[in-house]
Amino acid sequence: MNKYLPTFLSMSIFDIDYATLYAQGKKVILFDLDNTIASYEEEYPNKNQLMLNQKLLKIGYRIYIVSNNGKKRVSRFVKEFKVNGYITYARKPFKKKLNHFIQKEQLKKEEIILIGDQLLTDIACANRLGVTSILVQSISRKSEKWYTKLNRLREKKILKQLEKIDIGKTQQIKKMIEKSSDIDE
Ligand SMILES: [Mg+2]
Repeated sequence: MNKYLPTFLSMSIFDIDYATLYAQGKKVILFDLDNTIASYEEEYPNKNQLMLNQKLLKIGYRIYIVSNNGKKRVSRFVKEFKVNGYITYARKPFKKKLNHFIQKEQLKKEEIILIGDQLLTDIACANRLGVTSILVQSISRKSEKWYTKLNRLREKKILKQLEKIDIGKTQQIKKMIEKSSDIDE
């Protein structure tokens, strides 16, 4: 399997069938924050995000945020968005920090779903860890930081590789990227 191939695809965090996944044994969600749950501009969670948060807690999920962003950003967001814990400067796609965290929290890898918007960081990390992954469409690519934009060039090469493994999924990923990209880019 290619290390960049997500297990599932979804248009957004709101379009995932969390109840079914839970029934299938997934009990833990590791969420990327930026452009997965909220755009870079959203400092605090909005009503829809909070409603989803409540829904997930009610189902019984343990929720974590695993962000490559800093503590200020994440700690502010989780004041209202309830989580069991979070990691900042997670260094995705590298698995070391997340592995330590998974052990510390005594999480079972087979119960984990990692949800994120980036093939190169989120999905690559999930595959290195050996956990289920869901790629969601980036909320807004316009506000991406320079290093994320730089990853886009590498992403193009990776999509070519993925095409050879799973053409259907790759076509869908390409559509998702197109939709989230702004015309002026
Ligand atoms: Mg992201």
